[in-house]
Amino acid sequence: MNVVVTGGAGFIGANLCRELSARPSIGRIIALDDLSTGRAANLEGVDAELVEGTILDPDLLDDVVSSADAVVHLAARPSVPRSLADPFASHETNATGTVRVLEACRRRGSHMVAASSSSVYGAVPTLPKHEDLPTRPLSPYAASKLATEAYVLGHGASFGLPVLALRFFNVYGPLQPAGHAYAAVVPAFIDAMLRGAPVTVFGDGLQTRDFTYVGTIVRVLADAVLREVTCPGPVNLAFGTRVSIRELIQHLAAVVGGQPPSVQHRAARPGDVRDSQAADHVLRGLFPDVTPVPLDEGLAETVRWF
Ligand code: NAD
Repeated sequence: MNVVVTGGAGFIGANLCRELSARPSIGRIIALDDLSTGRAANLEGVDAELVEGTILDPDLLDDVVSSADAVVHLAARPSVPRSLADPFASHETNATGTVRVLEACRRRGSHMVAASSSSVYGAVPTLPKHEDLPTRPLSPYAASKLATEAYVLGHGASFGLPVLALRFFNVYGPLQPAGHAYAAVVPAFIDAMLRGAPVTVFGDGLQTRDFTYVGTIVRVLADAVLREVTCPGPVNLAFGTRVSIRELIQHLAAVVGGQPPSVQHRAARPGDVRDSQAADHVLRGLFPDVTPVPLDEGLAETVRWF
């Protein structure tokens, strides 16, 4: 079975390529990535072929997807603040780029598994977030990820393409970069703590997130590919572990050891949601064998990697 991973040199993509390369029934793995946020070095020692290019190039896509039984579509311009800085760029990659990938899959008849985001729930206050809730995006990023999953599910309904749209929540783990303005919270905190610097919290720190270890995510993605799992609606990919940012600091302080970090508060960021927690019954129905890595174990693995 041959697999294309768009965004395969990124954080989740490179972890996925490593996971797939360890599965005996997987043949060729192609990581298609423009290296805008991903790094070729993430694939060092992984049995995957890196094709450097953009999902916005239909000829390149046709070529790359021509022998693919499955495409895991992770390429995107991630992050809410980045989308506020340049909404059109988010739209172009996340919405237009997804249609390009879908069209290549349609021509080949490939199974398509795509990353959506919990940010699509946005301003809807209900917890836990279940897939039947309305969506109210709070940022261009969230709107573009809603377009991602809508196009994926639309192609499934219109053309009978086998598709699965997974709403990732807050994913963390090895290869997630720190040290830049758009860094995710877990690597940003670990990086600060290991340097003995204060951690920066936007808002009061009581906002909550549902964190999933990347090892759990890639096991679900590999399973989805191998069993050609499909679903006519979006599926949450998180397990309902709701943790506030203040609690996250305590968990990390216990793992890192030493003095608890000092905390620097800054204004809450526009576009950020207040609370997040996944309902996981649809996911568990589709992937009954998956057991999530517990938070403290995943954080310890991540700190070890740093
Ligand atoms: P990432 O930035 O590490 O990965 C995205 C990859 O896509 C990068 O390697 C980047 O170079 C590549 N890319 C961007 N534009 C491209 C283009 N036009 N053509 C080809 N490649 C392109 O981010 P990630 O955290 O690994 O995210 C992977 C996916 O998961 C994204 O779709 C993201 O929206 C989604 N997601 C991630 C999280 C999370 O917590 N990390 C949460 C929700 C959704």
